[in-house]
Amino acid sequence: MAMDGLLVVISGPSGAGKGTVVKKLILEDVYALSISVTTRMPRTGEVDGREYFFTTKEDFEKLRDDNNLLEHATYVDNYYGTPRKYVEEQVALGKVVLLEIEVDGALQVKEKFPEAVLIFIAPPSLEELERRLVKRNTESEALIASRIKKAQVELGLISHYDYVVVNDSVKLAVEKINAIVTAERLRRFPKAKPRKCSKDSLPAERRSLGQSPIIN
Ligand code: 5GP
Repeated sequence: MAMDGLLVVISGPSGAGKGTVVKKLILEDVYALSISVTTRMPRTGEVDGREYFFTTKEDFEKLRDDNNLLEHATYVDNYYGTPRKYVEEQVALGKVVLLEIEVDGALQVKEKFPEAVLIFIAPPSLEELERRLVKRNTESEALIASRIKKAQVELGLISHYDYVVVNDSVKLAVEKINAIVTAERLRRFPKAKPRKCSKDSLPAERRSLGQSPIIN
C-alpha cells in the first residue's frame, strides 16, 4: 500500500472512551474513519454502515477468506474486521485513517504496515473502567465481566503501542492525539529528499555559495 497518508490505530479497553475521542477527532477533515464489519448485534441506536457494517458469521468468513479484510479478530465471541479497500483508498488520498480496533488486530496491522502509528487509550484505572461500563448500560453483567477480563489482557499488551494516552479528559486526549498525528506527519516529511538543483539554476548572488551540500 502506498503510504501517502497515515494509518493510525486506536485501541483501548471497552469503556476507555475510544469512541468518544474518535468522534471528536473526525470532526477534522484530515481524518477518515474506517467502519468495521462485525457479527455482533447492533446496540440500541446503532445504525448499519455508521457504527459498523453488521453482518452474519457466514458473510464475515467469506470477506475474510476472499482477503477483503486488512485485519480481523474475535472479541468476546464475535468477529470484527477492517475492510481493506476503504483504508487503502483513503491512505492513498493522503488522509489520516483511523482504525478503532482491539489489540490482536492492532498487532496484525503493525506487522503488515510497520509505519502505522499505534495509540493506546487507557482508562484512568480499572475501577473507573468498570464504573463507565456499568453506567453505559449496554451490556449484561456477564458481558461486562468478560469485557473487564479482556481489558486486563489488553492492558498487558500496552508495550506494543507507540503511544499511550490516558483518557481522564476527552478534550485533553483529543489534543494529545492531534499532537501525535502532527508530529508523526512531520517526522515522515524529510523522506521527501531535499530538492537537488544545479548551481546555474540559482540566482547570481547565491552562485558563489555553491558549496551547499544540496547543490550539484
Ligand atoms: P464493541 O463491541 O464495543 O463495539 O467493540 C469491541 C472491541 O472490538 C473494541 O475494542 C473495538 O475497538 C474492537 N473492534 C471494532 N472493530 C474492530 C475491527 O475491525 N477489528 C478489530 N480487530 N477490532 C475491532
